Amino acid sequence: RAFNFNAGPAALPLEVLERAQAELVDYKGTGMSIMEMSHRGAVYESVHNEAQERLLSLLGNPKGYKVLFLQGGASTQFAMIPMNFLSAGVTGSYVNTGSWAKKAISEAKIIGETHIAASGESSKFMKLPSLSEIEIAENAAYLHMTSNETIEGTQFKDFPDTGNTPLIVDMSSDILSRPLDMNKFDMIYAGAQKNLGPSGVTVVIAKEEMLTGSPKTIPSMLRYDTFLGNNSLYNTPPSFGIYLMNEVLKWIEEQGGLVQVEKANEKKAGSIYQVIDESQGFYRGCVDAEDRSRMNVTFRLADEALEKEFIKQSEKEGFIGIKGHRSVGGLRASIYNAVPYESVKALTDFMKEFQKING
Ligand code: PLP
Repeated sequence: RAFNFNAGPAALPLEVLERAQAELVDYKGTGMSIMEMSHRGAVYESVHNEAQERLLSLLGNPKGYKVLFLQGGASTQFAMIPMNFLSAGVTGSYVNTGSWAKKAISEAKIIGETHIAASGESSKFMKLPSLSEIEIAENAAYLHMTSNETIEGTQFKDFPDTGNTPLIVDMSSDILSRPLDMNKFDMIYAGAQKNLGPSGVTVVIAKEEMLTGSPKTIPSMLRYDTFLGNNSLYNTPPSFGIYLMNEVLKWIEEQGGLVQVEKANEKKAGSIYQVIDESQGFYRGCVDAEDRSRMNVTFRLADEALEKEFIKQSEKEGFIGIKGHRSVGGLRASIYNAVPYESVKALTDFMKEFQKING
């Protein structure tokens, strides 16, 4: 298997792929693949419900929360959130942390009024605003945050107490990477293709009251209450993706749940940051140390001209996806849950060797 450091779609656990392969043609003696079955049948529905239950169970079964499966990626949530929650006289308050936060803000601007509650722009998003800097608008319908900026490589370690204002968080690139106290959040959402499964499924986990009473002026497929009222089976769901997600969730349970997953992620990220920090300036982490992401490690070479060579050599050695996002350049190793420590060890060995030869 390749050393896969892609930012998304990203590595899936090998065990999950192998199990799916074994069940691909004949799902549990039905003579059909799960992707060939009716989404209204009992076999698929039990997988669908199991995936919802597993998600909530991994999050500690918070009371009053529901899971929705949608399509259109996290990008569609950037629009659905303001469509469902903004109306005349209220504003969407946003923490601007970089590339993905900016996309969420620009979509909301199309729909209604927006407000910037805090911004990391002055540091070129290499530092996150502190929680105490966040000033929620008085007429805010919600505060929106991005827990992990996939491109810049920043990650919030904690979240603010927003009082009566609902907190909505885009967790596309770090959902289920650590234990979460769901009670802090009114709604979280994520495209599946990093920590949850293949692309094509979007997960929304929210307090039930967030998902009722969507404005009647918006089309059915863009209303949260359509999905809530029909257990995400209003239309054909991405059934194979949901099946694979259920398998990924089983795999997380087998790892020992989110406490163990977090430990593994800490070890992986820590070992790359250590090589960077001990390189005497040969490598440089892009982000302020306290805001560094455990999912996307962004770094540069002091000699930026050498970066091309680093990427070329890394590809030759079988490392995939080390090139930074085209909008920021540099280097990035995305180390989501399914990236094994062995891949990270191979990368840190490569980094040390590259420094020895070129330093
Ligand atoms: N939000 C974050 C933090 C992301 O990393 C991404 C994708 O990389 C998105 C949103 C957009 O997700 P999608 O491609 O599922 O629309």
